[in-house]
Amino acid sequence: MQDKNSGLKMPVQYIKGVGPKRAELLNKVGLRTVEDILYNLPRRYEDRSQFTPISKAVIGEYHTLQGQVLTFGLKKTRRGMSIFQAAIDDGTGVIHAMWFNRPFIKKYFKVGQKIILYGKVDRHEVMAINQPEYEILDEDKDFDESAHIGRIVPIYPLTKELNQRFIRALTKVTVERYSRSLSEALPTRLRARNRLVDIRFAINNIHFPYSNEGLKRAYRRIVFEEFFILQCAIALKKKDAKVEEGLSHRTEGELVNAFKKSIPFELTKGQREAIAHIEADMKSPRPMNRLLEGDVGSGKTIVASYALILTVQSGYQGVIMAPTEILAEQHCLTLSQFLMPLGVNVSLLVSGVPLETKDKIKREIKSGEIDIVIGTHALIQEDVEFKRLGLCVIDEQHKFGVTQRDILRKKGLNPDCLVMTATPIPRTLALTVYGDLDISIIREMPEGRRPITTYWVEEEKRSEAYNFIKEQVKEGRQAYIVSPRIQAAEEMFERLKKEAFADLKLGLIHGGLNSEDKDRVMGDFKKGRIDVLVSTVVIEVGIDVPNATVMLIEEAEKFGLSQLHQLRGRIGRGEHDSYCILLANPATDEGRKRLQAITETVDGFAIAEEDLEIRGPGEFFGTRQHGLPEIRFGSIVADMEIMEQARKEAFELIKADPGLNAPEHALLKQNLYSRFKATADLIHVG
Ligand code: ADP
Ligand code: MG
Repeated sequence: MQDKNSGLKMPVQYIKGVGPKRAELLNKVGLRTVEDILYNLPRRYEDRSQFTPISKAVIGEYHTLQGQVLTFGLKKTRRGMSIFQAAIDDGTGVIHAMWFNRPFIKKYFKVGQKIILYGKVDRHEVMAINQPEYEILDEDKDFDESAHIGRIVPIYPLTKELNQRFIRALTKVTVERYSRSLSEALPTRLRARNRLVDIRFAINNIHFPYSNEGLKRAYRRIVFEEFFILQCAIALKKKDAKVEEGLSHRTEGELVNAFKKSIPFELTKGQREAIAHIEADMKSPRPMNRLLEGDVGSGKTIVASYALILTVQSGYQGVIMAPTEILAEQHCLTLSQFLMPLGVNVSLLVSGVPLETKDKIKREIKSGEIDIVIGTHALIQEDVEFKRLGLCVIDEQHKFGVTQRDILRKKGLNPDCLVMTATPIPRTLALTVYGDLDISIIREMPEGRRPITTYWVEEEKRSEAYNFIKEQVKEGRQAYIVSPRIQAAEEMFERLKKEAFADLKLGLIHGGLNSEDKDRVMGDFKKGRIDVLVSTVVIEVGIDVPNATVMLIEEAEKFGLSQLHQLRGRIGRGEHDSYCILLANPATDEGRKRLQAITETVDGFAIAEEDLEIRGPGEFFGTRQHGLPEIRFGSIVADMEIMEQARKEAFELIKADPGLNAPEHALLKQNLYSRFKATADLIHVG
């Protein structure tokens, strides 16, 4: 181990030019050691490597200029402002550099000295450059030695108290003196295979690139290492799960045959493939850990039912956990319809169930009388015990945390686990967040689906939208009106009842209602006793009312793209044409672009990619529980190719050396531990 006060772990205070006061400011923004400075990467760069002759400088554009100081002086304006001006001559012309209210810089100037400037060229009475960044060169220094100008210049993320020039100069000194202390964590052959530069070159060039090419190589190397370590952790976790002993299910039998016969439609290719994956997983004694991805309406429920039938046939119990009561109830309805006739005992457990019934259900789960239980978070209560849990299905996986998934799973002995999501997850994100799961994707919709047409209209057309809804209701259809907030939904409901829809049957549903009321409203809507249902996003997932053909979404600009797509998946579920109307007057071009995009595509995967690009991975799921690890350097969106390559290498390496015991993996192992010590459960190196 290195001495604490030398090399990479040395506190910033001991770097040349940093006193205790500046050290404190640096510490405040998390820069404590030499290593922190080396890994404090620039936010962006400015190419200031080409000097423009002053005579060629274009007014209104940024230029890097060099020249000699002709004259300089300080002026005061009548309003008490000070202007420091210097005339700079490069032999092709003269330009006046001006700095406002910074009289102190006068003391740095001498007639005849060499100076470089960077800034926007402007014209007052003469050619001028306002508030340029500048650097005065020592007589023995050449132009290309500057940290600030005359090169590709790094721009760092900043806080008020630390200025760009200081950080840049500090980084320059630190890189020059200490980057040689960096050790190489990536094995030589891996680097050669992937054309990765070594860490010292990378750190030097990421801060002070010799060229654009050097910068690219440096960036790729640093991001590769970051992704590689992450994928090593994922590979270890996946491997660990795989070696555990689980249950082996019987995939042939009377029950499953009867179930197959009872399916009233032809399965799609994606459904058949998913079922084949699941059969193979469940047959094997290793625990299944599979993610089933499929757009809304793609038919995931029947696939889950199949898995549940397999577990019941093998003498185990199955469970489905859903994020909302409405959804749990709906699953219960669907499953009862399919499975009760086959003699399978299906039951619902949500917090809204009366206490006595609940106790009875819990007893029957424990005794094994109930084969399949469907519920919400209520399921992960301590006093819910299974006799022999064989399969956990988690619907809308991203609405739950990893911990909740694990609690449910622990109610059995390494049961198989199927998690489902209707939010199509872009591939990079899947490799990262769900990197330890096997993935099945249903890409196509069942045949005979009517397309959903989406319109985006502005506020002025509201009454036309209402008229359209009335027409649809006249034809016997039903409609949703969705608001982003409960209060807005309530107000909308009151207003519509009195005005636009006075002669229609209206209903209101939102997350603030108790589950009995929610049930009643949902039931009424399903039975056609409500024409127009005013709601919040409680209807976002899983609701299935085929006769509903119109959805009007209020303040559509407030929703994420994937969420809008999810919402409109509530319509287009029957035999009639369906229409989604987005009411929005977005304030920005960006907002208009987004709404335009969603009217043009119905492909949930394309929308998800777009959404991820616009909002970034943290916001993508709209929940804090996405389990996304912290990524400091790379971009999960832009650096997809690097992620794929790093993953391939990581999985190969972990396969070859699962304990990371080879000497050339020692530093890697150390980095892996230090990076993931917070999520220690990710690594159990065997
Ligand atoms: P989701 O993937 O959104 O959960 P569901 O499982 O709720 O979708 O299925 C949506 C509707 O499509 C249901 O009414 C279901 O019965 C029906 N469905 C599922 N698979 C098929 C199929 N292969 N052919 C026709 N209809 C299907
Ligand atoms: Mg579903």
